[in-house]
Amino acid sequence: MTENICTQCGNKHVIIHRKYNGQRLCSNCFKDSIEKQVLTTIKKEKLVTKGDKVLVGLSGGKDSVALLKILNILKEKNIIELEAVTIDEGISGYREEGVRIARETAAQLNIKHHIISFKDKYNFTIDRIMEEEMKEKNPQHACTYCGVFRRQIFNQIAREVKATKLATGHNLDDETQSILMNYMEGNVNNMVRIGYKTQSSDKRFTQKIKPLRKIPEKEIGLYVLESGFEVHFDGCPYAHESFRMEIGDFLRETTLKHPTMMYSILNGFEKIKPAIKKDYMTKKTGLPNGTCEICGEPASQKICKSCKFLEKIHEKIGE
Ligand SMILES: [Zn+2]
Ligand SMILES: [Zn+2]
Repeated sequence: MTENICTQCGNKHVIIHRKYNGQRLCSNCFKDSIEKQVLTTIKKEKLVTKGDKVLVGLSGGKDSVALLKILNILKEKNIIELEAVTIDEGISGYREEGVRIARETAAQLNIKHHIISFKDKYNFTIDRIMEEEMKEKNPQHACTYCGVFRRQIFNQIAREVKATKLATGHNLDDETQSILMNYMEGNVNNMVRIGYKTQSSDKRFTQKIKPLRKIPEKEIGLYVLESGFEVHFDGCPYAHESFRMEIGDFLRETTLKHPTMMYSILNGFEKIKPAIKKDYMTKKTGLPNGTCEICGEPASQKICKSCKFLEKIHEKIGE
């Protein structure tokens, strides 16, 4: 029988047993291991280079808090500049707590923090849109709206603060879910875009990076708690994107019996991606290069998706 002591330092207080590689770790060795893994990924995949200004999308959830804390290590070594942005979509009973935690975390780490609300910028909240949407026969999902407007705000703020990279806290669970979902839906267009960083042909889009892509969700939660940060674990009340949730449940269940499952999915995908991409991209380059006639943002058509949505929304809510 293996003794229950830290496999790194022999400490008797073990907080995690990693079934996928047999490690047992104490709090300090666990935190070190997470930071080391993320910093190694950043280096290996060349996610940042010296002098980069990284803007973190900080929701106040565990993933973005962990990401900010780890990127702060690079800031303290004067390798990168770091700022954070929180988007308040106006989801009552949920977002307030995230915004508060985001604000406190940024202050604690002494990182410049921007908070942008849908209400100030577009003069509506997601709650208000959904209130109208629910009266429809086939209501649009909240995520559809959120996704489009959040993306636009991220890009605009990134340009305003002259960020060279935009970092998000996507973890191993999120990534393997995306891989399986898009594979099952046959969505090659989305599949070729899954990765550590985005490759946009349009210079007006800041490159997005995902440094936590190899870390399981459970370990990120533990890392944040062990680091003494507060997080809210509540999910978004609108997050009933049921297919993703079903895939997530399936993956978590399978991982209980096959602990390396998520890693195999990610690594296997990384191996086949170059081939799919090569074949697909020669047929379709498909990225914006035009400009929206209304707002001047990058768009693949005359009017960007965000402006199309805005028009529809203002019509609906009559404001
Ligand atoms: Zn240890
Ligand atoms: Zn537009």
